[in-house]
Parts: sequence; C-alpha cells; structure tokens
Amino acid sequence: MVIKLAKTQGRKEIGWGDRANAFDGCSRDCLYCYAKYFRCYRFRQIPAEQWSQMKLKPGITAKKWPKPNPRWGRYMFPTAHDITNNPWVRDPCFAVIQSILNRGYDLLIVTKPELEVIQLFCEIFRDYRDMIELRFTITSADEKLLKFWEPNAPSFRERFFALKHAYLCKFKTSVSIEPFLDNNPIPLIKRVAKFCDTIWIGPMNYIEEFVKENVKEAGQSWPVGFEERYSFENLYSIYQVIKKYPQIRFKDAFLNEIEAKVGVKCNQRKTDNKIPRILMTQIQSTLDDFA
Ligand code: SF4
Repeated sequence: MVIKLAKTQGRKEIGWGDRANAFDGCSRDCLYCYAKYFRCYRFRQIPAEQWSQMKLKPGITAKKWPKPNPRWGRYMFPTAHDITNNPWVRDPCFAVIQSILNRGYDLLIVTKPELEVIQLFCEIFRDYRDMIELRFTITSADEKLLKFWEPNAPSFRERFFALKHAYLCKFKTSVSIEPFLDNNPIPLIKRVAKFCDTIWIGPMNYIEEFVKENVKEAGQSWPVGFEERYSFENLYSIYQVIKKYPQIRFKDAFLNEIEAKVGVKCNQRKTDNKIPRILMTQIQSTLDDFA
C-alpha cells in the first residue's frame, strides 16, 4: 500500500530542552507513567513500590543550574514528577523554577495542573511570562477514564480551568494530549484549542513492556479493546483530520506508527513555537466539520 502523506508539522520541538526535576517519584502514580517505567524497571533506580512516595532531591533548591544545551535553549521542568498543591512539593518546585529563571534560562513547565497551584504560579511568576511556557497535560475530558489512568491527578474540569486561567493571565500555554485516552481525541482538541498556542498529541507507549503489568499491579483489569485506539487505522484517521493544522504537533510514536505501515516518511518541518493565537480560532471552527 502506498499512501502519500501530506506535509505536516515537525515532530521535534525546538526548545524541548534539558530536563530538571526536584523530586524522585511521583504521587500521581499514573498507570501509564513512562518515568516510572524507566526509573523503576529499566534502570532500577527506585523500587516500584516507592514510586508514589516523592523524595526531594538533596540540595536541589540550592543548585546552580548550568547553561542549557544551546541547541534547545531552555529547561523542561518537571519531567519525572508533578507539581502538586502540597506545600512540601509545591514550594521546592517553585524554588527550583525561580533559581532557573534567576540564571536567565527559559522554562517549559509540564504539569497536570491543579487550579490553586496555577493561580499561585501566575501571581508569583507573572513578571517572567516571556521566559515561560506552561504545558498542561489533558489526556481526556472523560472523568472516568482519567480516574482510571491517572488516579491521583486533577479532574478535567480543574485542568481546564487552570488552562483558562493561565491563558487569561497571558502566559504562553500549550496542551499535551499524550497519551490520548479517548478513541477520538478531536472533541477534546476542540475544547482546549481556544486557550493554547500548540497541542501535542501522542499514543500510549510501552503498553506491552510495562503498562499492562502496571495495571495488574494496581489491582485493575485491563480495559477490553483499549489498544485499538492506537491502531494504525485509528491513528491514521485522526491524522487525516488534524494534519493540516499548524498548531497540532504529532509525537514521534504517532508518526512512527503511520510510517511503519505506509512506508513513507512524514514530512519533518521544524516548528518555531510562535504561532499566533488567532490561528487557534481557525482550527476550532474548521474542526467543527468533523464533530
Ligand atoms: S504525573 Fe507524570 S510523572 Fe507523575 S505519575 Fe503521572 S505521568 Fe508519571
């Protein structure tokens, strides 16, 4: 089968950045957590049963951050835990953020946002808006799905309000729909599109190597037919609808699955992260056709 793939957005984000973390472990304990897979199973750095107990990295709040790789130019924080509203988690996280900003480095902050954390963040860091992008992970609007996969993370409603709040406070915002948890993530894209500049979308990874076993360990049954949403057919039909919009960013695993089947490289065009917000209203109205 030969399918001509349309020109689409690049898969590598400029400014993905060097990673910074303040804690080992993450109390959200999402069932698909890649960080848990790598740290507990691949590298055996943390016993799996201790993953949900967050431990502050010694000396992290006083760390003098080195210049990030000039190729990326910014730090990504956090990448292997979240910023929860517990003061003993939130305050050291804010201290690390402040120390990176004080060194003059830009930041990409990735979180499943709690509203109070974001309200406080926007207040404290409003003078650094030009140096910060807030990326909110919102994997579904279905509260039942969220409760199953991300048992200790905020509801959709709370994340959505946090996104709106940050947007209205004029922070640069983006949304990560990775892994997308609905068969059809387009209605979710439509809901968040108005309040962010870019939307990253990707399937669930490491299902066979890790996720199935982790679900079992958590005492849950594997949802029947769940993997089908990451089949070539489903990915390709989603891709066909959303590929033309420059605001959409496909994660590697998304494009790899399509390329593996069709044998054609998806076009790689580097993105500049500076797409005006006005374009997001276009995507929203056009996506209405596919409701
Ligand atoms: S919030 Fe992120 S780091 Fe924490 S458990 Fe969930 S996926 Fe892992």
